[in-house]
Amino acid sequence: MTAGPLAMNRVKPAILLTIAFGAALVTAAEPPADRPADSPRPPAKNPAVLGRIPDDQIPKTDAEWKKRLTPEQFEITRKKGTERAFTGKYTDTQTPGTYRCICCGEPLFTSQEKFHSGCGWPSFFAPIDKARDKTVAEHADHSLAGIPGFGVRTEVTCRRCGAHLGHVFDDGPPPTGLRYCINSASITLDPTP
Ligand SMILES: [Zn+2]
Repeated sequence: MTAGPLAMNRVKPAILLTIAFGAALVTAAEPPADRPADSPRPPAKNPAVLGRIPDDQIPKTDAEWKKRLTPEQFEITRKKGTERAFTGKYTDTQTPGTYRCICCGEPLFTSQEKFHSGCGWPSFFAPIDKARDKTVAEHADHSLAGIPGFGVRTEVTCRRCGAHLGHVFDDGPPPTGLRYCINSASITLDPTP
């Protein structure tokens, strides 16, 4: 009565060995990886670089954002980070065009309101909507309030997707007197054709 199960036990290892050997052959036949496992991951595929993405395709979780954004873009836009001064790609850019949100593709600023502030970040005296409340939102930021020379700052975010963009200060040029100090990593430029 016990011959059946015993016989099966003898057969199973042989089957497993065959499967394992086959898998090893398949693995060996695969072409070598293009890059070492510890190299930086390639640039993310971010549809917002190409244009304004539909409302229902705006990510809702950090995991979803991480799939689209570079680590720097994620840290700045979704975790309120700040790129180092004078390191951003648009700090001194004078190319005519429209700057859109790197997260959702919404147009936020244009080159017509961009000015050279010398502060180390792209600076605009107004957002693309002059009313200041349609495309960007402003929030009180107390994160550096206890440090001498700072006080409460006004954070600027993309109204549509909540991306952190930078801060707005009241030391800008005419006609608004405002300086929107924006991280290059938070925006993408569409040059005017
Ligand atoms: Zn956005």
